[in-house]
Amino acid sequence: MALEQTLVLVKPDGLKKSLTGNILSRLSEAKLVIIGARVVNVSRELAETHYEHLQGRPFFEELIQYIMGDLHSTHRVAAFVYQGEDAIQKIRDIVGDTNPENANPVSIRGAYGRITTSGVFENVVHASSSSEDAEKEIKLWFGPDEIVEDIYPSREVMRSEVRMREWV
Ligand code: UDP
Ligand code: MG
Repeated sequence: MALEQTLVLVKPDGLKKSLTGNILSRLSEAKLVIIGARVVNVSRELAETHYEHLQGRPFFEELIQYIMGDLHSTHRVAAFVYQGEDAIQKIRDIVGDTNPENANPVSIRGAYGRITTSGVFENVVHASSSSEDAEKEIKLWFGPDEIVEDIYPSREVMRSEVRMREWV
């Protein structure tokens, strides 16, 4: 058994259907710990990088619109990093098969997913499927300071000309 991290996204359909609490309750059965959490406005660049392995597939453009929230008029995704022994497989088991029609009916996707008329799987959650994918995805959605553990090597940098907002 290996200590692993994995990325979970509550996709826009999950947020629109008010399923975040329910999904987190189901995932808590895996007895892992949450080491990062944020709500994200998904840019096209972020969406396309997250799903770059599916570029060229016929459903790619609609998948990008789906994860950006264009299909649900809620331009948001809730992102979580879970850590624990065998975290990746444990979360995938609770999440269920990619196709909601094939997914175990008591899995999250089996219970709440649907297939759109154009054929895209609106399956409510994303979960990393290997440790390589998890590392790539966690680094894409989170910076080192947004995770409460040092999981990957990072370095401190001093930046003076960074444009950012502050409270007034
Ligand atoms: N997807 C789809 N049709 C397919 C395969 C994938 O709509 O035939 C969507 C679905 O929302 C899925 C996402 O693309 O969750 C990413 O696909 P992947 O094969 O990585 O599945 P996952 O890892 O999410 O189970
Ligand atoms: Mg995948």
